Amino acid sequence: MDGGAHIRHPWPEPPAQGTATEIAPGLLWLRLPLPMVLDHVNVYALDEGDSWTLIDTGIHSKRSVALWEGILAGPLQGKPVSRVILTHHHPDHIGMAGWFMERFGADLWASRTSWLLARLLILDEEERPTPQALAFSRAGGMDPEIYEHRKNERPYNFADICAPIPVGYTRLIEGNVIRAGGRDWDVRMGGGHAPEHVTLWSRDDNLVIAGDQILPGISPNIGVYPTEPLADPLSDWLAACDQLAVHARDDQLVLPGHKLPFTGLPLRMAQLSGNHHAALDRLRVFLTEAHTAADCFALLFKRRIDRGTYGLALVEAVAHLNHLLHAGEVTRWRRADEAWLWQIKDE
Ligand SMILES: [Zn+2]
Ligand SMILES: [Zn+2]
Repeated sequence: MDGGAHIRHPWPEPPAQGTATEIAPGLLWLRLPLPMVLDHVNVYALDEGDSWTLIDTGIHSKRSVALWEGILAGPLQGKPVSRVILTHHHPDHIGMAGWFMERFGADLWASRTSWLLARLLILDEEERPTPQALAFSRAGGMDPEIYEHRKNERPYNFADICAPIPVGYTRLIEGNVIRAGGRDWDVRMGGGHAPEHVTLWSRDDNLVIAGDQILPGISPNIGVYPTEPLADPLSDWLAACDQLAVHARDDQLVLPGHKLPFTGLPLRMAQLSGNHHAALDRLRVFLTEAHTAADCFALLFKRRIDRGTYGLALVEAVAHLNHLLHAGEVTRWRRADEAWLWQIKDE
């Protein structure tokens, strides 16, 4: 499918650091930096008259706090933040939520799963990888050099980049209609990238707030983690694509969690599921011979996987393999080093 011509970015440049772009009356687009390969996250501020509703927040760090102080005094005109709505539980989206709750008494709105996961993962602080996490890495066939390095390193902890979230939140449910920024929004749940991922669809104009469920240019990460090693998030992802695609129209302006706002949603929805179907097809060919999850990187990803992207690549490779396992298409057995070898059943 050649769809590039139909996906358009009305704003070719993101707002500069500390500034806001007005997307529509009462709706501002802001950007915060991230210290990772994907180096930014989009957040949106919805004008409530005497206060703001924020959609997502960026990570918590000294730099983020300083940036937000400037944003609050500048583009947000000194008005308080009365509510934070979370699209999903990932640190780049929830990191500052607790800070806004403490600072302004802001209400927190989220899906129940997002809220539970955010709370749980912020409290779950590890100095070293758990035995379960190490076993998961060995099962994936992790490169021995990277494994040895990770074994003795403090792992990625939510607490390092997220402020604690106080108790008390309002649950968002599929089918809710909520009022924010002078509009009514349908709440629709996505999945696959994060469970119970909130998306908001305006009833009063053409805006869709998509979080990481629908991104332009890059495919949202679909991962399996040591918390649930046999999970099949790719099934959740494909189901969510089907459910959300029904509501997609060409005139909608999609406000994503990363990259630039865009139009052309029906085509993008088809691409987002099509990319994974194509990856599964390549895997089916590759797995006529037995391979580990790590062996599949070159085939699944178009860029080079280095130490910085290795973890994300591994969880995504396992997601594709688990999907084929649940579909009954592959068998797997352990190699001497505990890595699973995966092979297509020959029938
Ligand atoms: Zn995410
Ligand atoms: Zn994100």
